Amino acid sequence: MAGLLQGTGASPDFDDNFADSGQVAAEQGENKLLAAELRNELDEVERALAKLDEGVYGSCETCGTPVGADRLEAMPATRFCIDHA
Ligand SMILES: [Zn+2]
Repeated sequence: MAGLLQGTGASPDFDDNFADSGQVAAEQGENKLLAAELRNELDEVERALAKLDEGVYGSCETCGTPVGADRLEAMPATRFCIDHA
């Protein structure tokens, strides 16, 4: 028992900490990616809402033709028709 405690106290945690910080760094990287994705999505949605205000929601920004209802249902914030996606 005493030997076990001693062993625990004496063992360096460096490897564990090193692994943890690597894990944290990886998670932070993932979070950054996720945050960037969400920001892009938010931009798209805000743009779609602005188009709604302007009365041009659902029309392709490249050719101006109406984006299909199916496509809008799948991607409500899309800015382009299927041809210009
Ligand atoms: Zn188009």
